[in-house]
Order: sequence, then structure tokens, then C-alpha cells
Amino acid sequence: MENRNNSNKDNSLIFGSEQMREPVAAEFIPEHGTPAPIAYQIVKDETFPQTQPRLNLATFVTTYMDDYGTRLMNEAVGINYIDETEYPRVAVMCGRCINMVANMWHTPEKGDWKTGAVGIGSSEACMLGGVAAWLRWRERRKAEGKPFDKPNLVMSTAYQVVWEKFCQLWQIEMRTVPITHKHPTLDIEQALKLCDENTICIVPIAGVTWTGMNDDIEALDFALDGYNAKTGYNIPIHVDAASGGFILPFLNPEKKWDFRLKWVLSISTSGHKYGLVYPGLGWVVWRDKQYLPKEMNFSVNYLGASITQVGLNFSRPAAQILAQYYNFLHLGVEGYRKIHSNSMAIANYCHEAIGQIPCFQNYSKELENPLFIWSLKPEYDKTAKWTLFDLQDKLMQHGWMVPAYTMPKDIEDMVVMRIVVRQGMSRDMADMLITDIQNAVTELEQLEFPTPSRQAANQSKKTKGKVYTH
Ligand SMILES: *Cc1c(COP(=O)(O)O)cnc(C)c1O
Repeated sequence: MENRNNSNKDNSLIFGSEQMREPVAAEFIPEHGTPAPIAYQIVKDETFPQTQPRLNLATFVTTYMDDYGTRLMNEAVGINYIDETEYPRVAVMCGRCINMVANMWHTPEKGDWKTGAVGIGSSEACMLGGVAAWLRWRERRKAEGKPFDKPNLVMSTAYQVVWEKFCQLWQIEMRTVPITHKHPTLDIEQALKLCDENTICIVPIAGVTWTGMNDDIEALDFALDGYNAKTGYNIPIHVDAASGGFILPFLNPEKKWDFRLKWVLSISTSGHKYGLVYPGLGWVVWRDKQYLPKEMNFSVNYLGASITQVGLNFSRPAAQILAQYYNFLHLGVEGYRKIHSNSMAIANYCHEAIGQIPCFQNYSKELENPLFIWSLKPEYDKTAKWTLFDLQDKLMQHGWMVPAYTMPKDIEDMVVMRIVVRQGMSRDMADMLITDIQNAVTELEQLEFPTPSRQAANQSKKTKGKVYTH
């Protein structure tokens, strides 16, 4: 074909085109282009067999926004946030968002602009919070004339993977407290036992990814206060509030977990989780500017002005910031409360319905966040011919993504399933899901022979190894 660009003047011939019957480019940029309607169709169709985002109950990330929010984002898709000189109003809106988030978390900081930063997600926000804690610790150690080459960080084994990355990249020793059946959240006593003069911070989690529970941050703060008074280490807290940061202020405003607590110096969250913005958006806020080390503030003389920048990325999309600001204006506290209350009610409804299916048991009695995990009852598990991985596959056939996974080390022999309820999940959808689960279980219970995943599980129980994969 000499000239592909002219080979399809008539858009109605998309599926009559040569491109549609040839393999697509996968290794090299093709020499000649493909007309837009055909290229669009090819790319679009690549995504066809994927889960519909709103049926993806594995993710915490926003899969529904209203038309106005979506429109704002689409209209801002060409704006680079970093070009603050060219788009100064975006920077102002970003500052207002940081103010609102900081005040939502009861920052004691005075002044017109609170100290915080925007990130691509909680991952970047966690990294920034972690780096600040490390630099503050290093500064203090230097001032005291003490070695500063062996920093460590303490959290539970139910950490999100970003903390492993942070510790790897910055060479910080990660000290973890196992979560166990006895201590399903951070065991505070054990956490303090792992602390020493080299601990840069303790990281409790509001909305633990693995379980949906919250670490008891108020109790941690109290215990740490005594510990710090005794040792003089002044170990601070960074709260990883990726999902809890936008749940607690609306559904449990009395609960103290944020800057109302003395040792909480920084908090991170995902604007694209319960902040209700499409990905990627994260926020980190410090208690006061004195806790944001100068080394992290880059003044860049670029693009016609000197701008101050805190972040790992340079260029980043502005659309998410507009959408966050839109959500704050449009929803208000009341709107957030209503949406999250509905998610909570639907999560509770599913939790109860699943708890009533005889082969299942829920992990926790009460929900703190609109998500939960459950497992097969141990006695059922012993004789079942299937596992939750088989149930995951069955539900996938109905379009649902409900993940099964093994728990962190020390309870890794436990396989659980998780549902995250977000804006966009209605009671009607929940009823469809529950029916699909019940039907799938009925089918699985009629199996004559164990499934491959069950055989593997039985094998691993014999050898005590870990065979489950996910
Ligand atoms: C989701 C999550 C993260 C990572 O956040 P992203 O926004 O996906 O980068 C970190 N910590 C916890 C507890 C999370 O739930």
C-alpha cells in the first residue's frame, strides 16, 4: 500500500480498510500513519474485553464523575500544571485545595497558604512525607553530632507497596510489625519496641489497603508521647490516609487521627480515591512550614518566572486539580458526606449479605471504611473443592472484578476477597453482585473434583509453602 493516508477517505469503511485485517504495530512506530477514525477504532477496541471500570470493585480509585467534572477535566487536558506563569489561576486553585485539605484535617498552621503539595497520587505524596521526615531527622542528628547513616521507618506489615519503594529508593530500613489475627491493625506496643534513635517516623494507616481497617492513630500518638518524653527521640507520625483522609472527616468527624494529635507532622491522601477525582491526584500536608525541609523546596527560574515547587514530578496534568476544586465547590461537606454515607451503607449491606452466605466469614465485624474483606470459613475451607480464586474467575464472567489475594506475611495462609464500594455503586448494583456471588457459590459447590487452584492450595498446606498466586 503506497499511501495509507489516502487509502480510506470514507470513514464508513473502517472495517473495510486494509488496517483492520492486518496485525497492528507492536514493536516499531509504523512508517506510515493510519487515518484517525481507523486508528481510534483500533485503540478503542483494544480496551473492549477489559472490565468496565465501575464494575472493578478491586480499585479504590474514582471510576465515576459527573458530567461537569468530566467536562472540566477534558477541557483542561492540554494544561501542564507546572507552567504556573502561564496558568497562574491553576496554581491558585491548587493552593486553595491544599488549604481546604489542610483545614479539613485541622491544621494548626496560621497564614493564608497552608504548607502542602500536590502529587500524582498518594504514592508521590507518601514519598514526599517520608523524605521530609528523613531530612528532618538527618538535620537533627547532624546538629547533635551523631551518625545519620542508618535511618529506619516503622509501620505494620499491611503497608501499601509505595512504602517499600520509598525505603528501597532512599535506603531506609523498613521495620514492620506483623498484623495478626490478634492484632488486625498496627500493634502499638510492638511498634514502639521497634523504634530507636534512628527512627525517622512511624507510619500508621487510615484505611488499610489489605483490610479496610484503620490503625488506632490516637492511641499511637498517646503512647508515642510517653515514649518520646522518656527517650527524647521525638519520633513523629506521618499518616498514610490514602483512603481514610477523605472518609474520616465526613463520616467520623469526632475521631481524632489528624493534626489534632500532637505528633502528627504530615498526612498524605489520594484525591483520586475518596476525594472523588479521576486518577491521578494526591495531596500531602505538613503541620507547619517548619516541618517541610528547605531542601525539598525547589525554586525554579523557568518559563519566565521564579516558581517554588515541591514534588518528584515536574510536568503534571492540571485537570485533576480543577476537578478537585470543582468537587469541593459543587459537593461541599454535605455532598461528600452524602456520597460517602451511601457508599458506607451499600458496603454494610454487602458485608451483611456476604456474612450470611454459609461458607463465608467476614474479617471484621464493623466497617470503618466502605470496603471489607472476607474469607472461607476454616472448617469449610478444609473440605471445599474450590477457592476464592475460583470465585474471582466466576465473577469475572459477569463483568465484576472482585479480587482474591493472600494476606501479608505471618497470616499469608489466609486467602481473602475484597470489595471496595465507591461513588457509582448503587443498591441495585449491589443486589446484582450479591446474586452473582450466590449463584457462583452454588455452582462451585456442585463441583465433583477439586479445581486446580484448590489442588495447589492443598498441596501448599502439605508443604507449608506459599503457592497461591495473584
Ligand atoms: C492507594 C494507597 C496508596 C497509594 O496511593 P496511589 O494514590 O495509588 O498512589 C498508598 N497507601 C495506601 C494506604 C493506599 O490505600
